[in-house]
Amino acid sequence: MSRVYNFSPGPAALPEPVLRQAAEEMLDWRGAGCGVMEMSHRGKEFGAIVEQAESDLRALLAIPANYRVLFLQGGATQQFAQIPMNLLAGGSADYVVTGAWSAKADREAQRIAAAIGGRVRVAASTEAGGFRGLPPPGVMDADPTASYLHLCTNETVHGVEVHDLAGLLPASPVPVVADMSSHILSRPVDVARYGMIYAGAQKNIGPSGLVVVVIRDDLLGRAWAGTPSVLDYKAMADNGSMLNTPPTYAIYVAGLVFQWLKAQGGLAAIEAINIEKARLLYDFLDASDFYDNFVEASCRSRMNIPFLLRDERLNDAFLAEAREAGLVQLKGHKSVGGMRASIYNAMPLEGVQALVAFMRDFAARHG
Ligand SMILES: *Cc1c(COP(=O)(O)O)cnc(C)c1O
Repeated sequence: MSRVYNFSPGPAALPEPVLRQAAEEMLDWRGAGCGVMEMSHRGKEFGAIVEQAESDLRALLAIPANYRVLFLQGGATQQFAQIPMNLLAGGSADYVVTGAWSAKADREAQRIAAAIGGRVRVAASTEAGGFRGLPPPGVMDADPTASYLHLCTNETVHGVEVHDLAGLLPASPVPVVADMSSHILSRPVDVARYGMIYAGAQKNIGPSGLVVVVIRDDLLGRAWAGTPSVLDYKAMADNGSMLNTPPTYAIYVAGLVFQWLKAQGGLAAIEAINIEKARLLYDFLDASDFYDNFVEASCRSRMNIPFLLRDERLNDAFLAEAREAGLVQLKGHKSVGGMRASIYNAMPLEGVQALVAFMRDFAARHG
């Protein structure tokens, strides 16, 4: 068997030890006589799995006691609708639009607000500049009475990451709701600064379909009266995320990833590796006149690194030769073009070293 270095933006590579353990436990989970996929979600075995997963996630993120952890379904995109249903409460919400994902979240919230009442405003947008940076200090038109303010702290398509939340957002009692799908668990985060954090699992947590929500408990119970119960955060919290059958296998794999992260030394340790991986690739891009990265240096993502070949006619050759070298899923998002290397937690430093070596060699042969 030979595994490639997989730079997919998502579903993305998982840590190999996690896949091996899942394979080993596929037919018989620790003497249960059946696999996790075949267990009752109400049984004591799965109860232990979900409890361990939550407690490991709490430890990794240092989640304060007044926050609830929910394991939900429907991906991050479903949250785009679920957030205004639960939190708008007839008021006004602010959206910071810094890339494809926060733009989608804004559009979906506009649709929901039109249906249930309330208002959705854009507090700042970098769309006119092609989503190459974050709003500069002072341009944010934040409403101090908003029901919540939504932002995406790592824009997976455009490669823009918030490294300094305090510098971006003025201090305010308005709950901040953050889509952290593509950089959750890549670095420590001050959860108390947020009203709610959510993340689709398939980037840095586990299988797609699962979405992890961390929500401050005073934000529960504000849902629009017509909210379906499976979409109501309070109903889900009251039922331990098991109002209906949860995505049990995805939660189990997520739990293995949390254990793997703890074994790596936690988020500070994985952050140090992520910084090194990103620096290696950005330093190479900056020194090259064959390739180009176009994101403002202060908000370059450590997880998703888009880049262009200056001669775009070489794109197909680049992808084909990379594939030959065991480096896959490097094609950029169609809205940005060029290439994108997604280097989540599960991508080892060796994978980034192999990519840079390939890119150097490709440039030497085609430059
Ligand atoms: C991938 C992604 C999403 C969408 O996730 P789905 O699970 O496909 O709904 C939303 N936001 C961000 C930042 C993403 O990276």
